[in-house]
Amino acid sequence: MIYLDANATEPLRPEARTAVAAVLEVVGNPSSVHAAGRAARRILEDAREALAARFGGRPGELVFTSGGTEADAMAIHGLGQGRRLIIGATEHDAVRAAAPSAELLPVDRHGIADLDALARLLRGGPALVCLMLANNETGTLQPVAQSAALCHPAGALLHVDAVQAAGRMPVDFAALGADSMAISSHKLGGPAGAGALLLSAEAARQMRPLIPGGGQERGRRGGTPPVAVIAGFAAAADAATGPGQLGNLRDLAERSAVAAGAVVVGADAARLPNTTCIALPGARAETQVIALDLAGVCVSAGAACSSGKVSRSHVLEAMGLGALAGEAIRISLPWNATEADVQAFAGAYQAMAARLTRRAA
Ligand code: PLP
Repeated sequence: MIYLDANATEPLRPEARTAVAAVLEVVGNPSSVHAAGRAARRILEDAREALAARFGGRPGELVFTSGGTEADAMAIHGLGQGRRLIIGATEHDAVRAAAPSAELLPVDRHGIADLDALARLLRGGPALVCLMLANNETGTLQPVAQSAALCHPAGALLHVDAVQAAGRMPVDFAALGADSMAISSHKLGGPAGAGALLLSAEAARQMRPLIPGGGQERGRRGGTPPVAVIAGFAAAADAATGPGQLGNLRDLAERSAVAAGAVVVGADAARLPNTTCIALPGARAETQVIALDLAGVCVSAGAACSSGKVSRSHVLEAMGLGALAGEAIRISLPWNATEADVQAFAGAYQAMAARLTRRAA
C-alpha cells in the first residue's frame, strides 16, 4: 500500500511511539498533589514547554485540547463572544461548523484571501477573524501576518488554524502576530487525541473555556489530559524538522500527473511542500480515488463524501474552479514518503488517466 494521504493523518513517527510507550505506564493524574501526580505533571509541563518553544508560543498560554477541531472551536467560542465572526472561505469544517453564521472572506483563484475585502469587512465592528495558515486540500498558504496587521488596528482578533502547517513549514506564532493558533498532534506524526491552542497574553486573559470542568489547564479546559499522547505530540513536533525532500517529490508527482492530462490547482500560489491538488478534466474525483485505491494508492478527493452523498469541495468552489471542483484529488505526502512511492503513484495515475479519459472521449 502506498499512503499519500498525510493531510488526513500522518504516519506515527518513531520518536513519538517511543515517547508514548515510555509514559503509558506512568500512573499519576497531573492534578494530584502526591509524588505520582507530580511526576505526571512534570511530563505534561515538559511537553508544554517543548511545544511552546517549537511553535513560538509561551508555555503559560498553551492550552492542550483533544485535537485541532477542539482548538478551533475553543478559539471561536472563547474569543468570539460579543464579536462578529469573519472566516476565510476555504476554512476547514472545524472552523466553519463552529461559526455557522460567520461572514465569509473571499479568496482569489489561487485560494489566497482577499486582503482588500478583509479591510472592508473589518469596518463593520469588533470581530474575530479566522484564517488558516495552510489549506488542507490545496496546501495554499494564507497571508496571516498581513491579516494580523489589518485586524489589530481595527480592534479585531485573529485566530490561525495552523493544523496542516505545523511540522511541515516554519511556524512561529509570535512572528505571525495572531491572537490564537490551533495545532494538532496527528497531523505532524504524533498520536491522534491531542492538540493545542496557543494564545497571546491578551487572548489568554479574554479566553472563556469551551469545556469548564475541573479547572485543569489554568481553568481554560477541563478534563484529565492524556499525558502519554501529549508526550508523543511533543516528541513528534521535535522530530518534524521540516519538509526535507518532500517538495521535490511533490513536484515529481505533479509532473507525472500533468503529463497524463491533469491540471494542478493553485499551482502559482505559495503552498505546503507535501500537498498537491490535481484535477483530471472529465473524471469524477471519487472515481479517481477508487481507481487509485484499487491500484494500492491511498489519496483523497477534493470533494467530500459523507453518507453516500457526494458534495463538492467548498474550497475549490470558493476558488471558482467550476466543473473541475468535482474532478480534483488531493495527494499529500507523509513525512516518510520515498521516490519509489511517488513513482508507484505516477504509474497508477497515468494508467487510470488513460482509462478514464478514453472512456470520457
Ligand atoms: N483544521 C484543518 C486545516 C484540518 O485539516 C483539520 C483536519 O483535517 C482540522 C482542523 C481538524 O483537526 P483534528 O483532526 O486534529 O481535529
